[in-house]
Amino acid sequence: MIWYPYEQMKTMRQPYKILDANGVYLQTHDQKLIDSVSSWWCMIHGYKHPELTAALKKQADNFCHVMLGGLTHEPVQQLSAKLQEFLPGDLDYCFFSDSGSVAVEVSLKMALQYNTNQGRKRPLVLALEHAYHGDTFKAMEVGDDEDYHFAFEEKSGVVHIPTQIPALEAAFEQYHDQLNCFIVEPLLQGAGGMLMYNIDFLQRARQLCDEYDVLLIFDEVATGFGRTGNRFVADLVLPDILVLGKALTGGYIGHAATVANHKVFNAFYSDNDRHALMHGPTFMGNALACAVALKGIEIFERDDYMSKIQHIEEVSRRELAGLSDPRIKDVRVMGGCACIEVYDSATLEGFQQFAYERGVFCRPFLRYMYSMVPYIIKDDELIKIFDTMKSWFF
Ligand SMILES: *Cc1c(COP(=O)(O)O)cnc(C)c1O
Repeated sequence: MIWYPYEQMKTMRQPYKILDANGVYLQTHDQKLIDSVSSWWCMIHGYKHPELTAALKKQADNFCHVMLGGLTHEPVQQLSAKLQEFLPGDLDYCFFSDSGSVAVEVSLKMALQYNTNQGRKRPLVLALEHAYHGDTFKAMEVGDDEDYHFAFEEKSGVVHIPTQIPALEAAFEQYHDQLNCFIVEPLLQGAGGMLMYNIDFLQRARQLCDEYDVLLIFDEVATGFGRTGNRFVADLVLPDILVLGKALTGGYIGHAATVANHKVFNAFYSDNDRHALMHGPTFMGNALACAVALKGIEIFERDDYMSKIQHIEEVSRRELAGLSDPRIKDVRVMGGCACIEVYDSATLEGFQQFAYERGVFCRPFLRYMYSMVPYIIKDDELIKIFDTMKSWFF
């Protein structure tokens, strides 16, 4: 029996069974659904993309996987070279892993050991209120989402602050000599409720991190590859470590990367074996994942995805403009993400089935009805998503 995620198995509704998926569409036995959430935000090129599928098949004909322990191969070398060129600044050292949560764990290990390798003890992590960084233990600890992780309350190594500059300055004032890093989902906090904040906060964070030699980590597992309307938020403010996942492989296979700058890498690069980064997921640098990621980045650039995302943002703003109702608390849009926040989660009960019957797959959570659409979506499909959302209220 399958044990499904985030569900009380006793009361969960039957999941919709998908028989086929193509472009933005999911096919069930009786409905063709527009996937408004890109399969947990990763399927940016849409399903069954002919070029991605071909890249995968071609690599599979060659070999599917060899480990990176003592071995290397063309797809992983090409992908790390491509990321080096594609990512801003000196984010040049790419550590691969199999999921976003693990890539976050790796970034936190890097930050801790960056200090111990230099003989410094700095046990604390600074993080944001409402943060979500994955479901493994340390990722949960730096996360701040009662609704996901209420069963695990131990939080000794992390200080959480709101996205406000005075709180940021106060935290650095108080803890700067104990902090090894500040980890954030930059500009857009996804699973915490599609919360959006200003770039000023990150600019100030960069200054303070420089001043006190605290590493700045951007968890762009959700925001990377255009979701905020920027290729990466790292294009605006440069972190020391960038974490990528989800859209990295266009949603085809689980893979992730923790990308460090020269300063971080150099703290590990020495004649002392004990300074090495002791981590190595079995499937890191998987050849199928690398081949698909490479093709995905090529398409992202070639087909000018940034202008597609800008257009999605414009249509989203236009379609949601003026939407108000006593039950709605806030409506917000950033890049390829739109969110309608209600006051009471009960307001959204039944919406998923309502949307299903109208040909849209939505997955509202808590008080949030949202879209994170595949970038290849057409205007009429996008408008249908927003019409469905609006008709729930009117
Ligand atoms: C989804 C997500 C993760 C976890 O990624 P997985 O691949 O599910 O482990 C980490 N950080 C952020 C910001 C995410 O949205």
